[in-house]
Amino acid sequence: MTRIDLHSHSSVSDGTDAPAEVIAHAVTAGLDVLALTDHDTVGGIKEASQHLPPGFTLVPGMELSCAHEGSSVHLVSYLFDPDSPALAEELRRVRSDRAGRAEEMVGKLQEHGVDVTWERVLEIAGAGHAEHADANTIGRPHLARAVVEAGAAKNVQDAFDRWIGSGGPAYASRYAIDPVRAVRLVRAAGGVCSLAHPARAEGATNGAVPVALAERMVEAGLGGIEADHPSHNRPQTKFWRGVAADLGVVVTGSSDDHGALTGHRLGARTTAPEAFEELIAPATGVPLLRG
Ligand code: AMP
Ligand code: MN
Ligand code: MN
Ligand code: MN
Repeated sequence: MTRIDLHSHSSVSDGTDAPAEVIAHAVTAGLDVLALTDHDTVGGIKEASQHLPPGFTLVPGMELSCAHEGSSVHLVSYLFDPDSPALAEELRRVRSDRAGRAEEMVGKLQEHGVDVTWERVLEIAGAGHAEHADANTIGRPHLARAVVEAGAAKNVQDAFDRWIGSGGPAYASRYAIDPVRAVRLVRAAGGVCSLAHPARAEGATNGAVPVALAERMVEAGLGGIEADHPSHNRPQTKFWRGVAADLGVVVTGSSDDHGALTGHRLGARTTAPEAFEELIAPATGVPLLRG
C-alpha cells in the first residue's frame, strides 16, 4: 500500500528539520510519497529533491497563508510553477511582510517587558539553513521559541496563548491573499490545491472555515479538502469528509509535521492513492520528483 503524506514543513519555514532531514524522517516513517509544503515558499524543494532514495516521490508544494474576513485560511498547493510571474510576485510580497510583521511583534513583546531581540529571532529562523536565506519564511513559531528562551512562557503553545496568538497582546496581523484568489493563482500557475485543516482557521467565528467559502474555492478550482489532519477531532473529520463529498472534491490526509515543534509525526495521517491521483491529474506546472 502506497503511503502518502501531503503536508510537511522544514526549517526553511517553521519546521525544525532541514529539508534533507525531513526526507530521511519520511523514509523512516515508511512513506512512499511526501509533499514538502513550507509556508509561502518553495525554498526547500531543491535540497529535498537531492536526497530522495530510489522509489520515493517528492511532491513539490507550499502552504499558502490566506486571509478571509480577519481569519486565517491555509491552502496546501502542489505542482505549480513557482516562476509563474503573478504567483511569484505575490509570494515575495507575503514573505517580506512576514518579516516586517515579526519585527513589529518583537517590538510589542519588548514593550511588555519580554526580553527578546530581533537578532535572536532571526538566528532561530535562519539556524542551519543560510543557503535558503532569500526564500526563508519567518513565522510566529520562531518568535515563540525566543519568548520561551526569554522565560516569558513555559513552551511554544503557552507563548501563543499568552502573547502571540490571534488577539494576544503582542499579536500583529500581516498581509495575506484572499483564498479564492489564491486558488486561482495556483491553478493559473499549473498547480492544484487542497484546503488545509479547515476545522482550524485561526480567528474565525467558531474557529472553522465557512462552508460557503469552501464552496467558492471549489468553484475557483480547489481540488481537495484536508479533512484528515492531526488537529481535527473525529466529528470535525467526519464533517469535512462530508463537505468534500457534497462539493465533489477529494479528501486529503496529512501530518502537517513541523519536526520537533509538533512532535515528529510524518505519516500520522495519509491520503488514499486514488484521491492523490485524482487531485494531481490536472496539474501541469512542474513534474513529481522521483528518487
Ligand atoms: P504565522 O504563519 O507566522 O502566522 O504562524 C502560524 C504558525 O504557527 C502555524 O503554521 C503553526 O505552525 C503555528 N501555530 C499556530 N497556532 C499555534 C498554537 N496555538 N500553538 C502552537 N503553534 C501554533
Ligand atoms: Mn507552521
Ligand atoms: Mn496551516
Ligand atoms: Mn502546515
